[in-house]
Amino acid sequence: MAEPTPLDLTQPWWEKHPDQGFVLPRCDSCQRFHFYPQPACPHCGHANCQAAPASGRGEVYTFSIVHRAPSPAFAADVPYAVVVVKTDEGPHLMSRLLQVDMAHIHIGMRVQVAWGLLPSHPHGPVFIPEEAV
Ligand SMILES: [Zn+2]
Repeated sequence: MAEPTPLDLTQPWWEKHPDQGFVLPRCDSCQRFHFYPQPACPHCGHANCQAAPASGRGEVYTFSIVHRAPSPAFAADVPYAVVVVKTDEGPHLMSRLLQVDMAHIHIGMRVQVAWGLLPSHPHGPVFIPEEAV
């Protein structure tokens, strides 16, 4: 499994924005954030949504510890934590949680975005415990 291939629509999500850091899609009409990037707002149907600066902070909504690699590309990573983060802006997104003792991960744990920590996805966002910063 190789690194994901961003589309024009999803490109802003895959790398740290040079001026805004972490971004989420936001509707130009209703101003609500959403995730994942899509051609129309899932709240109101408006067609214009832009990548907008977001806090990069949130909490663990749910998580799973992966002990068996789904493919050889992940063999060196196990065990690792896959989390669904409820961002402070509202949208939920799936990511990896790094720099954490697996035994201490819990629902409601405060996390924040970090960059450049995952060798297999060197430019993409991951999350770390908030207190680790
Ligand atoms: Zn909208």
